[in-house]
Amino acid sequence: EARALPDFADHERVVAGRDSARGLTAIVAIHSTVLGPALGGTRVWPYAGFDEALTDVLRLSHGMTNKAAISGLPLGGGKAVIIADARAGKPRAMLEAYGEMLATLRDVYVTAEDVGMSLADADFLHTLTPNVTGTTAGGSGNPSPVTAEGTFLGLRAAVRHRLGREDLAGIRVAVQGLGAVGWALCERLHAAGAALTVTDIDSTRVEAAATEFGARKAGPDAILAAEADVLAPCALGGVLSERTIPALEAKVVAGSANNQLARPEDARRLADRGILYAPDYVINAGGLINVAAELSPGGYDRDAAMAKVATIPDTLDEIFRRAAETGATTAEIADAIAAERIAAARSA
Ligand code: NAD
Repeated sequence: EARALPDFADHERVVAGRDSARGLTAIVAIHSTVLGPALGGTRVWPYAGFDEALTDVLRLSHGMTNKAAISGLPLGGGKAVIIADARAGKPRAMLEAYGEMLATLRDVYVTAEDVGMSLADADFLHTLTPNVTGTTAGGSGNPSPVTAEGTFLGLRAAVRHRLGREDLAGIRVAVQGLGAVGWALCERLHAAGAALTVTDIDSTRVEAAATEFGARKAGPDAILAAEADVLAPCALGGVLSERTIPALEAKVVAGSANNQLARPEDARRLADRGILYAPDYVINAGGLINVAAELSPGGYDRDAAMAKVATIPDTLDEIFRRAAETGATTAEIADAIAAERIAAARSA
C-alpha cells in the first residue's frame, strides 16, 4: 500500500541519518534559518516507524520557528528525533554516531535536551561538536524555573486583560500537572495570593501541593472543568478540544504545556466562548529564551535571560490587543506576528 509522506515543502532542510552498525536512526528537521541558526532539542522516542518520527519532527521544528520568532530571538527553528527507547538505555555508540551527524550540521542547527535526552547526553554530544546547548559547560542550567517564571508573568498579563485585575490575590487558578514547571508555577501563584486547585496523575504531588499551598485537590478528569478563573495546563498537549472546551469554567487559559490545542480550530472554539487563550509557544518560551542565552556573544548571563523572559507579557499584550481589534484568535495573531518577523528579516 502506497502511503504519502508528510509534507515538508516548507522546511529548508530535512536530513535523515542512519548508522545501522551503531544503532542510529535519526532525523534532523531544519524548518527555518532566516532569523538565525535553527535551535531545537533532540527527542529520543520509540516511534512506531519512520513516518511517525518524520511527522513529529516536522511539526515540532515548525513550532520552534514560531517560538523563536515571537520571542524576538535571533534564531530559526529546528528539531531532531532519534528513534530509540531512552528507557532501555542509550548506547554510547549510538550517541557518538548522532554527534557525528550533528557536527555536519554545525552551521545551521543547534540542539538541546528534550524528552529522552538528558543533561549527561548533551554534555557527551558537546565533546563531539559545539552545536549543543543546555550543557553543563553552557551554564544555563535547568530551564523549568525560567519557563515557570515566564508562564507566571504571562498568566498575570492574561488576567489583567480578560478580568481587569492587576494582581492575583484571590484569583482561582486550576493547575493541571505538578511537574517541574507546574510546581514552580504554583509556588509563584501561591506567593501572589492565588487560590489553587491542582491535579496530577501522581497523587503524592497533589498531596504535597495541598500541604504546601493549601491547594484544593481535583481528579485528573475533573481539572479542566474545575471552578476557576484561570486554567493552567502544565502536563500534556492536546487538552483543549471539541470535547473539553464546552465544559471549561475558566475565562483564561494560560499554562506551560506545549501544543495545548488538539486542533488549530480549537482556538476559535475558545474565543467563541469568551475564553482568553495565551498561545502556548508564547507563554512557555522561557526555557528556550534561557537556553538561547548560551549562544549570545558574551556567553550565558542569567540576568539578561530573565530580562528577556520579562518581555513575555508585552508580547502577549500585543497579541491580545490585536486579537480584540481584528476578531482573529490569539493563536492566529501569534502565528501572524511570527510570520511578519520572518518575512521582514527575509526582505531585509
Ligand atoms: P514534567 O514531566 O516535569 O511534569 C509533567 C507533570 O504532569 C508530571 O508531574 C506528570 O505526572 C503530570 N501529568 C502527566 N499526565 C497527566 C495527566 N493526564 N493529568 C494530570 N497530570 C499529568 O514536565 P515539565 O517539564 O513540568 O513540563 C510540563 C509541560 O510544559 C510539558 O507539556 C512541556 O512540554 C512543557 N514545557 C516545559 C518546559 C520546561 O522548561 N520544562 C518548557 C516549555 C514547555
